[in-house]
Formats: sequence, structure tokens, C-alpha cells
Amino acid sequence: MSKFVFKNKVIKQILKKYLDIWSLGYLSSLAGWDLHTYMPVKAAEERGLVLAKVGTLSQKMLTDKEFVALVHKAEKEKNLNDVEKAVIHHLKRSLRFYEKLPSSFLESFTKLTNVAQIVWQNARKQDNFKLFEPYLNKIVEYNIEMAERLGYKNEPYDALLDLYEEGWLTKEVDKFFDSIIPEIKVILSKVKKTKFYGEHPLKQLSYDESKLRKVNKEILKFFQADFNRMRLDVSAHPFTQYIGYDDTRITTRYHDHNFAESISSTIHEFGHALHHMQCDEKLKHTPACSLESLGMGESQSRFWENFIGKNIKFIEHFYKDFVRLGSEFEKLSVQDLYFYFNSVQPGLIRVDADEITYHFHIKLRFDIERNLINRKINVRDLPEVWKVKMKKLLGVVPKTNSDGVLQDVHWSMGSFGYFPTYSLGTFLSGVWREELEYQVGKIDSLITQDQLDQVKSWLKENIHRFGGVYTTKKVLKKVFKRDFSPKPLLQYLKKKYLG
Ligand code: MG
Repeated sequence: MSKFVFKNKVIKQILKKYLDIWSLGYLSSLAGWDLHTYMPVKAAEERGLVLAKVGTLSQKMLTDKEFVALVHKAEKEKNLNDVEKAVIHHLKRSLRFYEKLPSSFLESFTKLTNVAQIVWQNARKQDNFKLFEPYLNKIVEYNIEMAERLGYKNEPYDALLDLYEEGWLTKEVDKFFDSIIPEIKVILSKVKKTKFYGEHPLKQLSYDESKLRKVNKEILKFFQADFNRMRLDVSAHPFTQYIGYDDTRITTRYHDHNFAESISSTIHEFGHALHHMQCDEKLKHTPACSLESLGMGESQSRFWENFIGKNIKFIEHFYKDFVRLGSEFEKLSVQDLYFYFNSVQPGLIRVDADEITYHFHIKLRFDIERNLINRKINVRDLPEVWKVKMKKLLGVVPKTNSDGVLQDVHWSMGSFGYFPTYSLGTFLSGVWREELEYQVGKIDSLITQDQLDQVKSWLKENIHRFGGVYTTKKVLKKVFKRDFSPKPLLQYLKKKYLG
């Protein structure tokens, strides 16, 4: 495997200049994290203004003639190593984006989505799709224009998908869903006859929040999270913010019931954080450390959330802490908690979905997005389309649009092509699981204070340290000598839920 050294003179010149752009990004990330955690409510408008200005500033620095000339010069250099090539690759990708999408286009799109997010919140609160419809219409039009400007191989959606998962085509994602959906349907129909199935009563029980806050910290300590380089805070929607090489922030949330949801969020975000924190130190402050593949990112968070955080060994380890969370929890056994953490039932809300039915939610969004971008369906028909598809895929139909087409924030933010990376990433995590078990040992035997470090170092050695040097497909080929396959995750689901 190639060494991580920057030797080329032109590349070194680029990296020196890039440090300015990186520094602006660092401050934007910090301000962005603060916006979702501690910022006073009234500061929102000012913060939005500042973030937009800083964004424009960094775009100017990136597209500066001198800087672009350096990138073109570096491209012609001979004998560049993989990390040097990655620097050029990432910079060229960003430059191409700004070249194809003029600043006037991007500015008006940002203005539109800033308003659309507020409109969407209100529409969702009032269960009034008509409020959001004109905005979504415009957002779809912008996305179609964006795809046309960016260019694509087979269909416009390819261009949008590529923004989130480089190197994947719509037809490949389509094929992926075609292969998993029938299999998951069969698994679900069989799970209906098991103890995993049904709404678990614990989901409705309230818990002691202050105790759960401590448990979340204990879990991160068990994972030997480096609190000198990261923080855990609280936000409405859990997220991970990568600020700098030695500064990653994660958040979790607390509702008044269903403590497993908070724990899963903490562990999910820890997986994202670890991915960032274990990037090779030599790559820090360079574009080679930027993690652009959302599928790869999600494969790391899902790995921890599902394979570690829902494992019976993990539940056993924290059993005493879990039963202290509520007054009625004392009578619960490890098995009870295991079925609670892993209960399966088709539901209306994507973020509440279990490991099996989750992918129906993503397939539905992928179909709708693709059809909107191909102008095969109209925005005004979405509430109805949503209901029909939910019925077909999950067998449930939302009574309100708030629990249906209005439930996700993504479209109001202007993001089309993002959703499929959730499923791709989850199935990718199945590949990592299979490889880890083959190379190191059964995950069940690794969930102990002494052994867990092996999981972390294996992930670092085989995936994390590469940062953004390779695309997901390249990591699969180069490190694991294989292609992407949904089979490992399907096998895992069958074994876990059907025995
Ligand atoms: Mg995630």
C-alpha cells in the first residue's frame, strides 16, 4: 500500500495555499455545529448570513486563477503517488462543480432552500402539503437544471447521485434495490412469526434522562472514545460535525420515552466520528482527508449502530445500567432488552425503522426522486404517490402528510440523490462485517473492553486511514479484492432474525 507522503513540489504549493481554504472550512464547521447545539435562537439570521459569506469567500479562494493554474500544473506532473493524485482529484471535483454551476445559480438555489426549510417545517406542523408544494416544485426544477449543467452518463439522476456517492450510476442503484427488496420481503414475512416482530412495549415507557446521559457517556468510554479529540452534546436531530483533525463533535437526542433510540443515535454518530478521527494524520488539513462518499460514511455509522450497539453481548455488558433507567425496568431480562433493541415492524417513519424495513423507506424515496427528475411524476401528486408506494412496500398508509411525504428534511434542503446512500452504506457495512469476521474473529467475541480495540484498529487499517484517497469502489477493489455485494448483509439479517 502506498505511503502517505506529499513529495511533489507543486502539490506542496497547493497544500500551502489550501490551508487558507481549509481554515475557513474549519470555522464554518464550528459555527455550523454551534448553530445546531448552543446558539441563541435569535442569532439564526445573522449566523446564516455569516455562513453564506464565508462560503462565498472560500469558493473565491478555490476558484482563484492562481490556485486553479497550480491545480492544472500539478495534473501534468509525472509520478504522483495516490495521495497526491487524490488532492488533485478532490480539488478538480470541486472546481468542476463551480465551473458548471455559476455563482448566480448557486446563490438563488441557496436562497430558495433557506426559505423552503422554514416553509417545510410549517407545512409539516400544519399537515399542509400545499404550503410546501410550490417550493418543492422549484427545488425539483433546480435539481433538473443542475443535472443538465453537470452532465451525466445515462439519465439526469446520475449527476445528482454522483454528488453524494461518486462513481455510482442510477441503473446500478436500481439493480441493487431490485436484488434486495424481494429478499427483504421474504425475510420480513418470516420474521412475523418470531419474537422480534411487533411494537415492543418498552418503546412507550419513559426513562430517567439524567441517568441516560451518563449511560451514553459510559458507552463512549467503553468504545474508548478519545474525549481529548471529541465531544458529545445534544441536538434536535443527531449529527456528526467534523471540525478539524483533533476536533470532532457528535450529538444525540432525548425523548421522554424509548431510550434505545438515544443510545442508537449516540453509537451511530460515534461510528461517523471514528471514521474521521482515524484518518491518517499525514493527510490532515488536505483535501485527501475529506470524506465525500456518504455511502462509505454511513457504512461506518451503521456498522457500530447495528453490529455492536444491537448485539446481545453489548446489551449484556450494559444490562445493569439499562435496567436502572426506569422504575419498571428491573424485571427485564437481557433477552427482553435484546428483543426491544431489535424489534421489527413496518412503520410510517423512516428514522424509526428497524434494520429490515428501513430499506423499503429508502427504495420509496429513490423511486420518487428518480421519477421527479425524469419528469415522470408531478410534485402535486406526491401525497398520493407516497401512500400507494407505502402500501405496496410496507403495507401501511399514513393518515397525514406529516407522517408521509413531509417527514424528511432532505428535499427542503435541496438534496436529491442523497437517500440511496443510506441503503448502500448499510449494505456496505455488511461487507465490512464479513471481512472483519473472516480476518479477525466473530464480532460477538470482540465486544469486550479488551477486544474492542481490535475492531477499531481493523477499521483504521483497512478503511479509515485512507480518508478520501480512494472512492468506495476503489477501497473494495484495492483493499478487499472484491466488488460491492448486498449478500453479506442479507445473510446477516437472515441469521440474526430467522436463526
Ligand atoms: Mg449517518
